Amino acid sequence: MNGKNIAEEERMTSQKEIVLDYVKNTKCHPSAQKVYTETKRLLPRISKATVYRILNNFKDKGEIQEIATKNITFFDGDLSSHSHFICQACGTVFDIFDECSKCNIIKNKKLKVGKINNYRIYFYGICKKCKK
Ligand SMILES: [Zn+2]
Ligand SMILES: [Zn+2]
Repeated sequence: MNGKNIAEEERMTSQKEIVLDYVKNTKCHPSAQKVYTETKRLLPRISKATVYRILNNFKDKGEIQEIATKNITFFDGDLSSHSHFICQACGTVFDIFDECSKCNIIKNKKLKVGKINNYRIYFYGICKKCKK
């Protein structure tokens, strides 16, 4: 391997780390556009296509999760078992940790079609801010 390839690989590695770091540490559920805007501050030369590719890669590997809403796809670096409340008015995604704890019962349950490894719950409604 020549020096150029090594440099290229290092650049990709740090881009991936910065993207993952941001998604894992933010408290909000960022869209790909938001991840791009935030990582661009640290990596001025990163392209939108690269950010999208990195995000999809981490999603495929199960390092981050995707929350698909009507118009936008959001990303969540928090893989702990929690649900999401999606406001139908402003589109904000909220973490819900204390509802549906009994749903854990269905985890690892065997259905006729196969065994459940995981599940996702989305609640839809109007958030307090929009209800005012
Ligand atoms: Zn709202
Ligand atoms: Zn979440």
